[in-house]
Amino acid sequence: MDFGDSPAEAEFRQRFRAWLVDNNPGLPASSTDDDYWAGQAAWHQSLYDAGFFGLSWPTEVGGHGLPSVYDAILDEELAAAGAPPRPGLGYLVHGILEHANDDIKARFLPGLVNGRDRWCQGFSEPDAGSDLASLRTRAERDGDEYVITGHKVWTSYSDDADWCLVLARTDHEVPRHKGISAFAVAMDQPGIEQRPLKMINGITKEFGEVVFDGARVPAANMIGEPGDGWPLAMTVVSHEREPGELGYVARYRKLAKELTAAVKADPTAYDAEQVRQLGWAIVETEMLRHHVSRRLSDRLDGITHGPEGSVDKLLMTWTEQTVGHAALGIGGADHTGDGDDTWLKVYLYSRAQSVMGGTSQIQRNLIARRILGLPA
Ligand SMILES: Cc1cc2nc3c(=O)[nH]c(=O)nc-3n(C[C@H](O)[C@H](O)[C@H](O)COP(=O)(O)OP(=O)(O)OC[C@H]3O[C@@H](n4cnc5c(N)ncnc54)[C@H](O)[C@@H]3O)c2cc1C
Repeated sequence: MDFGDSPAEAEFRQRFRAWLVDNNPGLPASSTDDDYWAGQAAWHQSLYDAGFFGLSWPTEVGGHGLPSVYDAILDEELAAAGAPPRPGLGYLVHGILEHANDDIKARFLPGLVNGRDRWCQGFSEPDAGSDLASLRTRAERDGDEYVITGHKVWTSYSDDADWCLVLARTDHEVPRHKGISAFAVAMDQPGIEQRPLKMINGITKEFGEVVFDGARVPAANMIGEPGDGWPLAMTVVSHEREPGELGYVARYRKLAKELTAAVKADPTAYDAEQVRQLGWAIVETEMLRHHVSRRLSDRLDGITHGPEGSVDKLLMTWTEQTVGHAALGIGGADHTGDGDDTWLKVYLYSRAQSVMGGTSQIQRNLIARRILGLPA
């Protein structure tokens, strides 16, 4: 396996690096800060307009149809330049691409990809997180529309979203997985209230609760057929779990390098345990990098992955949390890293990784049942 750049990849890397010199938006280099969320839409649009967004998505929806290794190159260059990560929307794009009819794809994908329409994902509810199939939000048919009533929570980007991909129950008579449908719901309407949630790291813009009280959605905005919401949700969460999609590896490596530089600059200031933590952070980051490279290489060979996404998610979680521990251990709670990120914020955000996109316990259950074939 050769992970070096091909001539075309090297040309792309140089072109993007040169563009970044003039177009780095100067936002916090990670999503651990409100300023990042405030500037994310403009950053998305700037990347798209310059031809650097949606690299591996189909050209019909505004992508570039390139192999996903180009996304990895982009992520490496963003991290190296201290620029913010690219917005991670692949899970929504893939969900709509794989499950929607042509009308929905034509109406919604271009705006999602070019960043002019902001989207959020309304799956989780106060009593339906890991057990998503127990969701209670309902959509009732009324002429050419559905009327939605229910309560979603932990809805990322809900404060500035124009559209929400909502899972709602449309049939109460069938087994619970089969009675769920998916809709593209306009957020700007009287039947929807968005309530921001404050995270432990102080962020208020990342996510909120969304209460639907008689919100209306045209029946033509249903994604797939009635009852197709569950397979769509499984596509969305499987893409949400892929570290290659998310571009996190480059960010972890950069943090590990910053921490290493701090230790090298003043070796006697750190005890053996702090250095051991950093050592693990470096080892796990490299392990994840090779793992993601192998996954990207598989994709180039046309190999797709199913339940193995749960292994990827666990590895990514371990790495982020090990790097977060090392950052806190070495930096202390009030140390400021490169950019505006304090290493405390890095540590606090790392805690969310074992919950978002399906908890670590749920990933282990999936690995046990679907890969190892163990009984439930
Ligand atoms: C940063 C962040 C962003 C998020 N963004 C979104 C979003 O945009 N849209 C959205 O819909 N949701 C989002 N979520 C919600 C996320 O999907 C849920 O938090 C997650 O699925 C867990 O659900 P829960 O919080 O209800 O916990 P619960 O399901 O109540 O789980 C509580 C604990 O019980 C354990 N547990 C539950 N069931 C089992 C089981 N069968 N076996 C073993 N252990 C079990 C869990 O692992 C966990 O430790 C986000 C969460 C975070 C942290």
